[in-house]
Amino acid sequence: MAYLDHAATTPLRPEAAAALVSAEFGNPSSLHASGRAARRVLEEARESLAGDLGVAPGSVIFSSGGTEADNLALAGIFRARRSQHPDRRIVVVSAIEHHAVLDAANALRAEGAEVVELAVTGDGRVRMAEAEALLAARASEIALVSVMSANNETGARQPIDEIAAALAGTGIPLHVDAVQSVGPGGDLLPATAAVSVSAHKFGGPVGVGALILPTSIPCAPVTFGGGQERSVRSGTLNVAGALSMAAALRAARSNPNGTAEQGRSITDLRDQLAVTVLAAIPDAVINTPLANSLPGILNVGFPGCEGDALLMLLDAAGIQVSTGSACTAGVPRPSHVLLAAGQNDAAASSALRFSFGWTSRQADVAAVGAVLPDIVARARRAAGAAPLNPAATGLSR
Ligand code: PLP
Repeated sequence: MAYLDHAATTPLRPEAAAALVSAEFGNPSSLHASGRAARRVLEEARESLAGDLGVAPGSVIFSSGGTEADNLALAGIFRARRSQHPDRRIVVVSAIEHHAVLDAANALRAEGAEVVELAVTGDGRVRMAEAEALLAARASEIALVSVMSANNETGARQPIDEIAAALAGTGIPLHVDAVQSVGPGGDLLPATAAVSVSAHKFGGPVGVGALILPTSIPCAPVTFGGGQERSVRSGTLNVAGALSMAAALRAARSNPNGTAEQGRSITDLRDQLAVTVLAAIPDAVINTPLANSLPGILNVGFPGCEGDALLMLLDAAGIQVSTGSACTAGVPRPSHVLLAAGQNDAAASSALRFSFGWTSRQADVAAVGAVLPDIVARARRAAGAAPLNPAATGLSR
């Protein structure tokens, strides 16, 4: 089996698995000995995570994952800002955000928000000129800006430093969805921004994440209850999950390439796959800007194919990939990310995302190369398209 869907979720690292079962039992809000022991473990996890991310421990708000962190940032910051400045009703997002951001922003329309989407270039990066023009024209109306550090479908890195610089001095808070880039990417986070992270993307367990929320950014609670996490995110804390997340991040930072063989990095494997794909399918379109992207993501369009058909055929051959993002797979819609980058419906529906992680091996690349010509030819026949690639046709059954 070749698992090439690490951007959807990556296996638990051994260090994270060990931490998960080692954590002290107890509710960290309890005052007795078990509660105090659990609190100690939780705070150690918070410090370890903050140290590795380069942020203040007090800014870490544990959450149930990336989606909750994104929702809290969008709704919480919007509401807090609006209560201070009723005229600030614009929520700025990029057109290629994950639905955890896009849909959270759109839900705020019911509360009076105006959502402005920043367009992207053909290689999927936010157009800075457009962001700057918006700021010049409407800065006094903006509640917050949310732009991801790197896109989950194409891997394209976003100009976060430039956006942070453009916002400096305006008082407008920046939220960064760094769910895909924290971990093997090793990125440092923008110091003044609110940042979403999610453990299962870097070898921790599913169901735990964090919003890094500097105390300078106002944020209203979205859930109510026991007042945990600075009263911003109530709910009994997941101590074992937090400890395991911290262990996963430490392991991902110290050994980003995991078990990749022969000194090959995740990027080497990804680049090797790009070469392999183009050799097999010369008219394939590489949608990932390889020079400015996450190390492990390769997004490829296969003209004349439906991505979903390719996914099923590859799955039957023991190769697991994704169309666009796993969160929207199964919904027969072209990728909103590729549409935003200027592709038409057919091209945006023909893409597959291959993503590498700490258990990836060279054999995974070879497995794709061995079956791809035949599978693409079959998908083209299924789509009723004329075979575009004679080499592929020759190898088809
Ligand atoms: N943001 C991005 C960029 C993602 O890729 C994902 C997951 O695919 C999420 C948010 C949601 O994270 P979680 O699965 O932890 O809820």
